[in-house]
This record gives sequence, structure tokens and C-alpha cells, in this order.
Amino acid sequence: MEKLVIIGSGPAGLTAAIYAARANLAPLVLEGKQPGGQLTTTTLVENWPGSVDGIMGPDLVQNMRLQAQKFGAKLVFEQIISVNFSQKPLIVTTEKAKYEAEAVIIATGARSRMLGLPREEEFLGKGVHTCATCDGAFYRNKQIMVIGGGDSAMEEANFLTKFAQKVYIVHRSDSFKASVFMLERAKKNPKIEFLLNSEVIEYSGVSKLENVKIVNSKTQKSAVMAIDGVFMAIGHIPNTEPFVGQLELVKLGYIQPKNNVLTEIEGVFVAGDVSDWRYRQAITAAGLGCMAALEAEKYLAGKE
Ligand code: FAD
Ligand code: NAP
Repeated sequence: MEKLVIIGSGPAGLTAAIYAARANLAPLVLEGKQPGGQLTTTTLVENWPGSVDGIMGPDLVQNMRLQAQKFGAKLVFEQIISVNFSQKPLIVTTEKAKYEAEAVIIATGARSRMLGLPREEEFLGKGVHTCATCDGAFYRNKQIMVIGGGDSAMEEANFLTKFAQKVYIVHRSDSFKASVFMLERAKKNPKIEFLLNSEVIEYSGVSKLENVKIVNSKTQKSAVMAIDGVFMAIGHIPNTEPFVGQLELVKLGYIQPKNNVLTEIEGVFVAGDVSDWRYRQAITAAGLGCMAALEAEKYLAGKE
């Protein structure tokens, strides 16, 4: 029987592990297929407070792992496939083992929806990006494309005009999911140009992205454009597949927290991008991880 199982090892899960381990709960962290989480896929993180010159994403999460282990967290490289939260103890099943737990923190994060084009993975972080707040500053005076027609696309495009010379919003139709206010603001921005009924169909470049081929679905005309950076804003997919039927999922699968980190099931807590479709930052995920651990500690103390 584990006192506390933490599912996920991004900033949310690892911060929860540091707090829980320091509270002598010896948490078991099921790291999943991506130990360290999304930050392992990036280079310099410049907005993590306290790192004046920035810190490499993989270094930041590796430090968090070591810090959690130092205080007694047990980290295992296992991916959960299902849970049973309808009974106590709570049951968490991985491909290797079945764990019983008094409390569980879910911190499985989310992944960006991608176009799925050839070379997309190769150019990830080298011209193809998923977070304007994170990587926009690397594109001063550059040519940028934002893909999507929702609020995220409008917001990211507006934000990117602080740095870029030009921002194209490429949207596959001419009707928008974005709110009128956000859309109007983007339309009024002189640095933004809309390419509607258009889809990106090819990336090219030698060691980083250099050109993007788009096609207009109405005219069937295609064009190759010299583009330095493409920012994906076509939605996110929360990693909640193992929790279907166990917890209430909202907004395309996100876990809806109560009071930030509680769920409708006693003893089950949630933190990070898996329940936060709005901010999606390392610092907010870490903050929620801290809150979840403090709540779990209080819950376990109450049981005793
Ligand atoms: P994640 O980091 O997504 O971690 C999820 C964890 O859950 C992973 O360890 C995974 O293995 C695990 N997991 C998933 N499914 C399962 C399962 N079934 N069983 C067990 N484990 C599972 N934010 C910033 O603040 N600054 C930046 O500069 C920045 N740059 C970024 C650059 C890139 C390329 C990307 C993609 C994101 C960036 N972000 C940045 C956003 C930041 O990485 C996320 O907000 C943050 O990582 C979310 O943390 P998390 O712990 O909630 O989830
Ligand atoms: P979204 O509203 O679901 O919009 C996704 C957009 O991506 C849509 O325009 C969609 O096109 C397009 N898209 C999806 N798959 C695509 C593909 N394979 N190829 C090309 N285009 C594709 O997602 P979001 O913009 O991330 O917003 C998510 C939620 O967060 C929304 O509720 C939104 O209001 C909210 N949000 C709010 C704010 C704010 O209020 N400040 C900011 C950001 C997000 P179609 O329209 O053709 O389907």
C-alpha cells in the first residue's frame, strides 16, 4: 500500500513529489513515457523565476527529479493504463504492476495537437513551436505563421507581433471559433495578415525550418513562403485517457478541478496542464503541484 502515488513527472508531478517527500510521505512517482514532461522537448526556458540567464528545459526538470529523490520520492519509469477510483484503497494499474494507494495526484499534462506532417517532429523547437509565450522571444524581426482560428491563435498571434516583423494567421476555413473581440483585435493589428481557407501542407529546410508550403482549398493554388517560425494553435489534448469513466472530464477531456486541485473523489487530486487549459506554463503547473501535495498531506493526516 502506497500512501501517495503521483502520476506524471513534469513540473506539476515533480513539485508535488518534492513537497510530499519533504512531508515524509515517500511518494511513488509513476513517470510515464516522458520522464520530466514537456520541458524535455525544449531548449532554453527564460521565464522560470530565479534563473537569470535561463535554464535548459531538460536541466530544469532533471534538477527537480534529483531534488524529489533527495527527500525520498521513489521514481519509476512506468506508464499507467487504468485506474479504479470507485473503491478505497485507490487502484492504479501500469503495464508492469498494480498499486494500491491512499491518495493519488494526477499530473499527466497535455500535448499540443499537431498537423502530423512529415518533418514536423524533426523541426520541433527548430522552427515549429507549440507555445508563443515560451518561444516567441526567439523570433525578433522574423516572419512567423500561427496556425488556427480559435482564441489561442488570435492571442498568440497578437503576442508574437511584439517580436516578429510579420505574423500570418493560417486558418483552414473562413469562419472562426475565436471570440469576436479576440478576432477583431487581431484584424486591427497591422503586423497580422490572415491567410484563410488555407492549410500548411509541407515544411522544408536544411537543419531548421526555412520554408512552408500552403495551399488554398478554394482556389487550389499553392505557395511556398519563407517562414522562420510556425506556432501551432490548433488546440491541446489532455492526457486523460486512463481516467475516462472514473472522473468527470470537461472541455475536450480536461479534468475539472474544484478549488484548484481537488477532484470529486476524496483522496484524488489533480495538478498542472491536465486540468489547466488556460495558462499551460511550467510555473503554474509547479504551483498547482505544490497545492495538490499540500492538500494530499492534509487529507492523509485527517485520515490518521
Ligand atoms: P507535462 O510537462 O506535460 O508532464 C506530464 C507528465 O505526465 C510526463 O512526465 C508524462 O510522462 C506523464 N504521463 C502522461 N501520461 C501518463 C500516464 N498514462 N502514466 C504515467 N505518466 C503519464 N512553459 C514555460 O513556463 N516556459 C517555457 O519556456 C516553456 N517552453 C515550452 C516549450 C515546449 C516545446 C513545450 C511543449 C512546452 C513548453 N512550456 C513552457 C510549457 C510547459 O512545458 C508545460 O506547461 C508544463 O510542462 C506542464 O507541466 P505538467 O507537469 O502539468 O505536465
Ligand atoms: P479551439 O477553440 O478548439 O480552436 C482550434 C482551432 O484550430 C480551430 O479554428 C480549428 O479549426 C483549428 N484546427 C483544429 N485542428 C486543426 C487541424 N488539424 N488543422 C488546421 N486547423 C485545425 O482551440 P483554442 O483556440 O486552443 O481554444 C481552446 C479553448 O480555450 C477555447 O474555449 C477558447 O475560447 C479558450 N481560450 C480562451 C482565451 C481567452 O479568452 N483569452 C485564449 C485562448 C484560449 P476549425 O474552426 O475549422 O475547427
